[in-house]
Amino acid sequence: MTTTPNAPLLTVRDLGVTFPGRQGAGPARAVDGVQLDIRPGEIVALVGESGCGKSTLARALLGLVKPTAGQVTYDGRELSYSQRALRAHRRQVQLVLQDPSGSLNPRHTVYDAVAEGLRIHGHAGDERKAVADALSRAGLRPPERFFLRYPHELSGGQRQRVVIAGALVLEPELLVADEPVASLDASVRGEILALLLRLRTELGLAALVVTHDLGLAWNIADRVAVMYLGRIVETGTVEEVLTSPRHPYTQALLSVLPEAPGTPVVLSGEPPDPSRIPSGCRFHARCPALANGEAERAGVAEACRTKDPAVLNADTRSQSACHLSPTGLMPA
Ligand code: SF4
Repeated sequence: MTTTPNAPLLTVRDLGVTFPGRQGAGPARAVDGVQLDIRPGEIVALVGESGCGKSTLARALLGLVKPTAGQVTYDGRELSYSQRALRAHRRQVQLVLQDPSGSLNPRHTVYDAVAEGLRIHGHAGDERKAVADALSRAGLRPPERFFLRYPHELSGGQRQRVVIAGALVLEPELLVADEPVASLDASVRGEILALLLRLRTELGLAALVVTHDLGLAWNIADRVAVMYLGRIVETGTVEEVLTSPRHPYTQALLSVLPEAPGTPVVLSGEPPDPSRIPSGCRFHARCPALANGEAERAGVAEACRTKDPAVLNADTRSQSACHLSPTGLMPA
């Protein structure tokens, strides 16, 4: 790593990912004008409903999806999409997927699963030691006890630890974890989240944790970015966003958490199709503040229907892409 202290490890600027439309629909803007920074050792939670574009954004950061606009910069260098550049990038930025059963080949032992990345990248050192170290860091100790075991012989939590060990073995600087505990029992979730926090403390590992669960963000993240229909609509520290949410979408997501006070705000309808992003504020058809008259009383209702709120900047202060509390810095 060559970044100066506190300089972002990864920066995302004006990022767009558009897919061709299906069955006569127009192009789908899965990611649309995203700005985001992740600093060394920082854990950022990317939160939103299913289909909001968060997994597509995560894949774009790994170079698994090529953006149609904007750029991703890692350690001061713009990501290029040659095979060689992507290989080097994926050594430093590792993906941890949701379902450990789907990520692990049932015919591969734990040793082979963890060693796979080393072999792909032509590791020249002591493979056995690297595998043992990675398993230990992932909390599978003594590591040798797990070498010859197969995925079906492990618990769900142990399988997820093997997946994490497979990511750690290449000594990355950033993990992109896509719903890392969604498929696990509640009792194991806390253990895996504690592991991610310990890896940050011990190894200085940064992480982007993609989740639909704001409660999970509270337990693990330094900062939160809330995504709706391809755009980040609110960012800030975890305390700012989760204790004083400013965007009506974040407020609605928080209101349905079991521990939330007051009446849950049930959003009407499904998120619109990314091939038909509404004009004005993309959230306006479902916005409780527009429906209950708050936007009208504040004199912004017309703007809600006709004017896209400004795109949020990547800096770390609290921001909301809403006409009720405009803090975006760039013209949309
Ligand atoms: Fe709701 Fe208007 Fe804010 Fe959009 S801009 S979230 S419609 S109040």
